[in-house]
Amino acid sequence: MKDFKFLTQIHLSRVALWLTLFGYPTKVVPKLSKKEISLCAGGRCRVLTTSRRLEKNLKNLKVEYLILPNWEDWKTQLCMVLNHFNLSPNLRLNYCPLCLDKLKPVTPEEIKGKIPEGALRCGKNFTLCPSCGKVYWEGGHKRLMEKTLKQLKLCCKDLFGSF
Ligand SMILES: [Zn+2]
Repeated sequence: MKDFKFLTQIHLSRVALWLTLFGYPTKVVPKLSKKEISLCAGGRCRVLTTSRRLEKNLKNLKVEYLILPNWEDWKTQLCMVLNHFNLSPNLRLNYCPLCLDKLKPVTPEEIKGKIPEGALRCGKNFTLCPSCGKVYWEGGHKRLMEKTLKQLKLCCKDLFGSF
């Protein structure tokens, strides 16, 4: 099992993805259970949820948690997480969003044939996931992410006056 910083439920998967992109790997489970939250006991990870159902258990296990309003959009929820845990929203892109393993930097030679020629030529900062073998690189997709990030920071500024 990979180390993860946050544990959350499927309907917060958008929040989870962005936390992982920011360098805080976040595991998503279909439904949080007592067994699952016990993985976070002793400060091993923090729990993000929209339900008070497990609050007593979380307290007993001394797990740090945040209950998010489920009627808010994902950007607002994400801002709440960043603000509550004092995290910085920078695209570190150092964890595989699929399996949460730490990505390893690789040279274009090492991944030749594994990704399209165009990506090999125009991309930069290639990384490889040791677990699932997926190759990541900075290209057009990163510009899109930066656009979303800009909107996110505006949203957070509106809410908390920070970032
Ligand atoms: Zn992976």
